[in-house]
Amino acid sequence: MNFYSLNQNAPKVSFKDAVIKGIAPDKGLYFPESISPLPNSFFDQIGELTNHEIALRAIHQFVATDIPDEKLKEIIADVLDFDFPVVEIEDNVATLELFHGPTMAFKDVGARFMANCLGYFSEGEKSEVTVLVATSGDTGGAVANGFLEVDGVKVVILYPRGKVSDIQERQLTTLGLNITALEVDGNFDDCQKMVKTAFLDEALLENMQLTSANSINVARWLPQLFYFLFAYKKVKSKGREVIFSVPSGNFGNICAGMVAQRLGMPVKHFVAATNVNDTVPEFMQTGNYHPKPSIPTISNAMDVGDPSNFIRIRHLFKDDFKVLSENLSSYFFSDEETRVALLKIYEISGYVADPHGAVGYLGLKKYQQHHPQTYGVFLETAHPVKFLDVVEETIGQTIEIPRQIQKVMGKEKKSIAIKSYEELKVHLLKS
Ligand SMILES: *Cc1c(COP(=O)(O)O)cnc(C)c1O
Repeated sequence: MNFYSLNQNAPKVSFKDAVIKGIAPDKGLYFPESISPLPNSFFDQIGELTNHEIALRAIHQFVATDIPDEKLKEIIADVLDFDFPVVEIEDNVATLELFHGPTMAFKDVGARFMANCLGYFSEGEKSEVTVLVATSGDTGGAVANGFLEVDGVKVVILYPRGKVSDIQERQLTTLGLNITALEVDGNFDDCQKMVKTAFLDEALLENMQLTSANSINVARWLPQLFYFLFAYKKVKSKGREVIFSVPSGNFGNICAGMVAQRLGMPVKHFVAATNVNDTVPEFMQTGNYHPKPSIPTISNAMDVGDPSNFIRIRHLFKDDFKVLSENLSSYFFSDEETRVALLKIYEISGYVADPHGAVGYLGLKKYQQHHPQTYGVFLETAHPVKFLDVVEETIGQTIEIPRQIQKVMGKEKKSIAIKSYEELKVHLLKS
């Protein structure tokens, strides 16, 4: 299948080229040329399929011209070697736990899928690909882990000094090998700016093949549709209309869920739950889209004022606000409301959520007030241990540190301090 640029001013490319380029030359996001629904029988019989079979059927049409079936099966088996439990915490309210991967962030699946694709595409190529990524926390760890020891691929991660948690910093800086962590004297926006400057730097691009590993990249974005199918498989038997509430920042995850809907998955409605970075809730309320500077919150992986994937959602609905509104509601919540929800969930059910999941829960409850007949699933996008201080302080309990996290706690941090774009460029050119 080919992919076209949403800016409509660049040639169509194969899946392979879309993955390697990351973004189109006209700066548009790539989008699949078509989305063909799967047969009804797939959804009728989904309960009998394994997660690997579901994933293969769902992603096949998008990638099959560039990845042979046998290789695709291998990639899927490698990417999806952990569970995606659905835990019911109240009547008609369940959480889909996406944090059982190696870095305990839901971004593990997308990062691993992209790493496998890029590794496959660079087999037999002479030149290396360099993945350049800025992180405010979770992305970096998932990308570092996913790309570790992938031949022909180097990874350079920029993160703001002192602004990621200790656990997150260790996940980025202790792997070594083909992963380099650059510790930037500045904030996340400064890191992001440096990455953007690099992607526009002709002199640099002549010397190396650079790509991004954020959810702009189709190989990171699309595999997220698996989650929704895995959850549907488990809650279908409840016999109610299913809704998903997705804690959203860049809107890649929820947009992938909407692709699953386009594949024919029966879902009544999506809720995009955000923190006070309310660009999309405001748009769904007023029809006016105003990107803003981001505001720091306790659900910091969603501190995004200008969500990069929302344009894909608008495109999926042909920019028809009415049809979009029938399928999507969006609400925002303050840190105070999030803490109250964390505590309430714990008191009602004993379940320990993380701040992102708690925002998803709030969005779900708000929608269900007016749609009580539905079965709601909210996505738990990170393990609570990743946000240890906030969670322990809010629920007044200590959380046990899981094995994946214990493993990195003792390792030695290795990073290179940089202050400016010039230093980044020097580093990239000599590496
Ligand atoms: C990245 C992230 C999100 C937001 O996902 P988007 O696809 O950017 O909307 C939510 N929660 C956690 C924990 C994340 O790391």
